[in-house]
Amino acid sequence: MAPSRYEIVDYLDVYEKARLNVVTMQEMSADRQRFAPADLVVATDLAGLGDPRVETVWPAVHDASAETDSVIWIPLMAVKQMGVVANVFGRRLVTPAGHPATLIDALAYSLSWTEVLDVLRRGQQPTGLVDDATASHPRSRIEVDFVDMAEDARAAVSLVELALATFMVGHEAGHIYYRHTGVSPLPGIFTGPPPVPQSWVDEASADAVGIAATWDGMNSNQEVSIDESWLGPILSLAYHAGREAAQSPEAHQNRPAVQAWLFRLRTALGVLGQWLRGNGFEAPRAARILAAATSLAAGFYEYVRTGGDAPHQVETLGVPGSAVYDMLERVVLAELHAWL
Ligand SMILES: [Zn+2]
Repeated sequence: MAPSRYEIVDYLDVYEKARLNVVTMQEMSADRQRFAPADLVVATDLAGLGDPRVETVWPAVHDASAETDSVIWIPLMAVKQMGVVANVFGRRLVTPAGHPATLIDALAYSLSWTEVLDVLRRGQQPTGLVDDATASHPRSRIEVDFVDMAEDARAAVSLVELALATFMVGHEAGHIYYRHTGVSPLPGIFTGPPPVPQSWVDEASADAVGIAATWDGMNSNQEVSIDESWLGPILSLAYHAGREAAQSPEAHQNRPAVQAWLFRLRTALGVLGQWLRGNGFEAPRAARILAAATSLAAGFYEYVRTGGDAPHQVETLGVPGSAVYDMLERVVLAELHAWL
């Protein structure tokens, strides 16, 4: 395996920036959701290395019985996943577009989701391989080419890395915040009881905190506006949904784990729309973000679901990308309608 720079030590800087972004959001939340301040520590969980000498006890941020822990453990695999997602995005999509803003324009106004998929698959000459530890199913494998890339694309990789990390840390912080307050609301999304299991709502609520961290934190600390930082939450959720679908060889379209990720993706898009409106964004600016997110999410999901650069020809597995696109498009159209 070719050496990659996705080693833990190289990610410490990203961890720290992500943590500070969450702290910024926490401070800015004082007049909104009033998260109880938590001193957050971000660390890598070494489980899954395959070394029997490494044993990790998870402090279980999801465990409501633990009152005080605020250590956010990032699974080692998640670091590699961040690298895969950021690199595929930078190399395959930003490189031909030249700049993230140009790419987002194209995603919003001209590229269909199937064209996004075509562009993603067009990447050639992979020189490195990032192999998921769970790659017992070949479709969960994605190859990434570690060759030199243009400066704008490299900058886009860094931007997406940090947006992904901030979203991830913000999500886990969300579990901590909601546990402290004893509620797990999803503000404004459902008028009645949620039509899905409570655990899905908990995850989607934590995602909303992750989106807030990405939005507030990167805006304040990296001067990256939500016009670009939305890439983190959307790419993350599309990737995980696609990966779950890729590991669903029994072709159960209703397989709960896939549906849970798709619910989170759909809800995140809705949250983004609501908050854009709530923050007084003009409709065209919000539409650009939401339309771009829809094409990108569906194309990226399908790319991952079908095996990345080594696509399999089996057509019956998981939820097809066309269905995901339709689902997301409905969310966006409903959100945009609310501007009228
Ligand atoms: Zn969670």
